[in-house]
Amino acid sequence: MISHSLYLHIPFCRHRCGYCDFNTYAGLDSLVPQYVRALCAEMVYLRNRLEHALPVHTVFLGGGTPSLLPIAELENILGTLMVCFNLHPQAEVSLEANPGTVSLEYLRSLHALGINRLSLGMQTASPEELRLLEREHDFQAVIEAVSWSRRAGFDNLNLDLIFGLPYQALSSWQRSLELAIGLCPEHLSLYSLTLEHGTPLGRWAERGLICEPDSDNAAEMYEWSMERLEHSGFKQYEISNWAVRRDGLLAQPALPGIGSRGAWLRRRDTHSECAGTRCLYPAPAKLWHPGPFLSSNSSNSIDPAHRPTG
Ligand code: SF4
Repeated sequence: MISHSLYLHIPFCRHRCGYCDFNTYAGLDSLVPQYVRALCAEMVYLRNRLEHALPVHTVFLGGGTPSLLPIAELENILGTLMVCFNLHPQAEVSLEANPGTVSLEYLRSLHALGINRLSLGMQTASPEELRLLEREHDFQAVIEAVSWSRRAGFDNLNLDLIFGLPYQALSSWQRSLELAIGLCPEHLSLYSLTLEHGTPLGRWAERGLICEPDSDNAAEMYEWSMERLEHSGFKQYEISNWAVRRDGLLAQPALPGIGSRGAWLRRRDTHSECAGTRCLYPAPAKLWHPGPFLSSNSSNSIDPAHRPTG
């Protein structure tokens, strides 16, 4: 049976960033328990319609800001997932987190749940650019989030960065990427900013309040990044995604084009093409550990109706 990749969307954020047109909502945290119940019910519904549990090799909890979810809600989601799908023992289970929303204790709990990869939204190291994007964190929060993630046991980190911003000089982008490389992530996702219609940034540009991003400038940043990362031990396996080489192998993802957010959603980078589910690189050696919610029972032997409840 073909193995699948699962994307679970968590549409909650503390606030809407100026460039964001994702399906996400601020100020609706009171709906989190209801939403998690609905998500779990959907997984159970899918399971009940199939004869066998679908094999799954990668799971990505994206958003939105999944790191805003309380651990108990994530435990419900992952517990239901284990019941409803046949998760590969080496599955990559990623969670998207925003710097400034996590603590060491929270990250330790995530790791204990069985999440084995974090994707952190760094975006840029420049305070001015972060302000323009209306991001709430600063670069210090990125440093802390990376440091705490390592202490919590994560050996597979991605950093998301955005380039081609209005007013962004090549030198500023170079500084941001150098600082990101200095944090030693296993993976980098670099996205070129698109000003989406209906977003604050898009409206400001339409009214002439800010300048449009310069596409030639963005192309120069992209080409420089390709070269820089090639010389830093990264392998570009997809238009927006780079993974560290380890002993001739890619650190991750297990299936290129699947374990990164850019390839999951295809919504930030219009140049991307789906890499499909072909296995081009060997899977990482690290075994997925099921966390506390799965006992010795097999995921297929549990009645989905008896899933953990919120
Ligand atoms: S960019 Fe990310 S953190 Fe900001 S509103 Fe959109 S989903 Fe939320």
